[in-house]
Amino acid sequence: MSTTPTRITHLIGGTSWQGSPARTSPVFNPATGEQTGVLDLASCELVGEVVRSAKAAWESSWQRASLTQRTQVLFRFRELLNERKAEIAELITAEHGKVVSDAIGEVTRGLEVAEFACGIPHLLKGGFSENVSTKVDVYSIRQSLGVVAVISPFNFPAMVPLWFVPVAIACGNAVVIKPSEKDPSAVNAVAALWKEAGLPDGILNVVHGDKEAVDALLTHPDVKAISFVGSTPIAKYVYETGTAHGKRVQALGGAKNHMLVLPDADLDLAADAAVNAGFGSAGERCMAISALLAVEPIADDLVAKITDRMGKLVTGDGTRGCDMGPLVTAQHRDKVTSYLDAGTQAGATLVVDGRDGDVDADGEGYFLKPTLFDHVTTDMSIYQDEIFGPVLSVVRVASYDEGLKLINDNPYGNGTAIFTNDGGAARRFQNEVEVGMVGVNVPIPVPMAYYSFGGWKNSLFGDSHAHGMEGVNFFTRGKVVTSRWLDPSHGGIELGFPQNT
Ligand code: NAD
Repeated sequence: MSTTPTRITHLIGGTSWQGSPARTSPVFNPATGEQTGVLDLASCELVGEVVRSAKAAWESSWQRASLTQRTQVLFRFRELLNERKAEIAELITAEHGKVVSDAIGEVTRGLEVAEFACGIPHLLKGGFSENVSTKVDVYSIRQSLGVVAVISPFNFPAMVPLWFVPVAIACGNAVVIKPSEKDPSAVNAVAALWKEAGLPDGILNVVHGDKEAVDALLTHPDVKAISFVGSTPIAKYVYETGTAHGKRVQALGGAKNHMLVLPDADLDLAADAAVNAGFGSAGERCMAISALLAVEPIADDLVAKITDRMGKLVTGDGTRGCDMGPLVTAQHRDKVTSYLDAGTQAGATLVVDGRDGDVDADGEGYFLKPTLFDHVTTDMSIYQDEIFGPVLSVVRVASYDEGLKLINDNPYGNGTAIFTNDGGAARRFQNEVEVGMVGVNVPIPVPMAYYSFGGWKNSLFGDSHAHGMEGVNFFTRGKVVTSRWLDPSHGGIELGFPQNT
C-alpha cells in the first residue's frame, strides 16, 4: 500500500522552515522502492539567510558560553542520543536501507564522538609558561571560529555529521549542516535532540539541498570552515573552492580498501573478516574491503571459505533481521551491477553472482546480493574503481612485497588491513603502508573518537582528520598571549627586537 510522501524540510534557528521551496527532491525507501518523502532543496539566498542567523546566534550566545554551560548541553545531548538510538536507527534504515543492527552501530559510533566532546574543558586547556623573561608570562588559548559548515554523504547519515558537530559545538562554534539529499531524516532527528538538550536556537541549523546549497556554503564569507565527506571528485572540488574562498577545509573522499592475507594467517578468521567488511552495509562504507590480496598458496582455500560463508547470507529488507540490505538508489544499484559484466568481460572469474537468488523483501527494492570475483588483475575497472557496493575482488599475489606495492600504488589511502600471525610482518606493514588507517587482523579499523579519522592520498584533501585532537584544532584558532603586569622596573626605551632576559 503506497502512502503520501512526507515533506522533509530545513531546521533553521530551532524551528522547521515554513517557506515554499522552488525545488524539491524525492526520498525513497530502498528496500521497497516506494517514495516516502519529498525534500525541500535550499536556494543560495536561503543558505545566505541561515548563515547570517547562525552568525548572529553565535555572537549573542554560544561564543561567550562558558565551558560549564557548553558541557551541560553536551552531556544532556549524549544522554538523549543514547536513549533515542533505536528511533534514529529506524529512520536510517528507512531511507538508507542498511539493516537495523548496523544502523544502531552507526549511531553508537557517532555517540562516541559526543562522549569525547564532553571532555572539552580538558581538551581546550592551553599551555602556560611563567616568567619566560623576567616577570613576563606566556600562555596559549584556543577560540571558536564562528559559523562552520558540515556537508555529509548518504552512507552514514547520522555518524558522519556526528564526527564533526559535537566537536564544533563543544569548541564554541555555530554549525550549518547540509546532509545528503538521499537520506535526510536522521540529521533532522538528531538536530531536534540538540534543541531538547538546551542548545540555543540558531547554533545548529540543517539546510537540505544539492550543489546550489553546497556552493553557497563554500563561497559565503561568514562560513569559516568546511568539513566535507563524500566522493573524491566532489571532495577535491570542495577543498579547492573552499580554500580559494579563504576557508579552512577538511574534505574526506572516496576509498579502495585492500586486505592483505599472508599465508600464515588463520584463514577462517580472514574469511569471516572479508565477508563482514566486504558486504556489511551492502559495501557502502568508506572503510569497506573491496580488494582482497591473497598471498599464494592460500587463494584457493580462502576463496572456498568466503564462498561458503556467502551462501549463508540473507539479503533483504533491513527491518527483517537480514544480514544485508539494498543499495541506496535504483541508479546506484544499476551502476554497481554494471561492474559484474565489466569484470566478466575483462576476464575475471565471477565466483558468486549477486544477481542470482531471492531476497527477503516486498516491492521493488534496489537489491544486489553479495558478489565475489577471483583472478582479478590491476588493469580491470573492478579493481581500479571505487564500486561502493557488495562486490569483493580477489587479487592473487606472490608475496608480501607485491601486495604492499599494490596498496601503495593505489591512488586512494583510506583504510587497509593485514591478516597474519607474524608480528614482525604486521609491524613492517604498519610502518611501510601508505594508508591513513591500518588494521592488524582488524578488517575495518575505524579509530575511536579520541583518535582522528581520515585517510591519505585521494581519500583526504586538507591537513586535518576528523574528531580527536585534530578535530578540536580544526574547529578552533590558537592565540598566544605574552603578558607583563606593570611594575616600575619595566620602564625605559628600547627599539630592538624583544629578547628574553
Ligand atoms: P557524494 O560526493 O555524491 O555526495 C557527498 C555530498 O556532496 C552530499 O551532501 C551531496 O549533496 C554533495 N554533492 C554531490 N555532488 C555535488 C556537487 N557536484 N557539488 C557540490 N556538492 C555536491 O558522495 P555520496 O555518494 O553521498 O557518498 C559516498 C562517497 O562518500 C563514497 O565515495 C565514499 O567513499 C565517500 N565517503 C568517504 C568517507 C571518508 O571518511 N573518507 C566516509 C563516508 C563516505
